[in-house]
Amino acid sequence: MKPHHFYISAALTAILIATPACSKSQSATSDSDINRAVAAHAATPKFSSDSAFNFIKQQVDFGPRVPGTAPHTACHDFIAERLQSYGAEVELLDTMFATPTGKEVEIRNILGHFNPDARQRIMLVAHYDTRPWADRDSDPTAYKTPIDGANDGASGVGVMLETARLIAAQSPKTGVDMLFVDYEDSGTYAGPDEEWCLGSQAYAASLTPGSARPSFAILLDMVGGPDAKFPIEYFSAQAAPEVVDLVWRKAAEAGQSSRFVKQMGGAINDDHVYLIKAGIPAIDIIESANDLTGSFNPTWHTLDDNIKNIDRATLQAVGDVITSVVYTL
Ligand SMILES: [Zn+2]
Repeated sequence: MKPHHFYISAALTAILIATPACSKSQSATSDSDINRAVAAHAATPKFSSDSAFNFIKQQVDFGPRVPGTAPHTACHDFIAERLQSYGAEVELLDTMFATPTGKEVEIRNILGHFNPDARQRIMLVAHYDTRPWADRDSDPTAYKTPIDGANDGASGVGVMLETARLIAAQSPKTGVDMLFVDYEDSGTYAGPDEEWCLGSQAYAASLTPGSARPSFAILLDMVGGPDAKFPIEYFSAQAAPEVVDLVWRKAAEAGQSSRFVKQMGGAINDDHVYLIKAGIPAIDIIESANDLTGSFNPTWHTLDDNIKNIDRATLQAVGDVITSVVYTL
């Protein structure tokens, strides 16, 4: 993904960070509300950050998952196999897609459906490919070396696979679709936005006006960095404010307000943008208020994006929020 550089109006920021006023009747809590809340809490299984970490390590151990390489194929097959073993109906959405320069590339998206007959459905999304170049590394001789992508790619997939493991053991009421997109990270910084996110563009192009769409989608990108903070991404707030409200409320309930900060972050060209264009309200949970950079994690697109820089505490925070959303809808 790549950040856009433009300023967000102060007025919009004020609207977004304002906490809605709660009327007296809304704030009154009945016994049945409490019982429901207790039941919902008891029904949410515990996300294991150790397990999510292992799913990340398994991806990294394949080697950089650059499209067209053996590690990429191995990771593709690993994700499909895990989904199947956890009881998902799996669709392998292989297709050819044209880049903005007209080059045809093979896209290998993977879509898993849990509880396929449920009418209410939500979607979780992450990219599983990795960037072919460490072109933000401090060492220019590394610019053409592919990255491990432990955070940029594997972390979102790891959180999703751990969620899939929990769903296999205990089905939530809602249907869950898990979309693992390909070819997110091969764009250039100076080129058009459409050089990025080719997998989600191909998925969006495959939808017709009559295609079934989930109620909303949550994209997980770079969710494993130490002390990661997740401000509200701009396009998410524009297109799906009610989903932003839901997720950041769940985060507050989970005691994660210091990570899921309720302030406007930047506008980021990422996979959710193409789902939004295809009529799916979609948000991006992405580390983009790092203390050192003010934006992404300093390991972004460098050789330091490796397993040593994945923090279980961050995975736990994100996993707790995602499972809370999945199991309490
Ligand atoms: Zn990237």
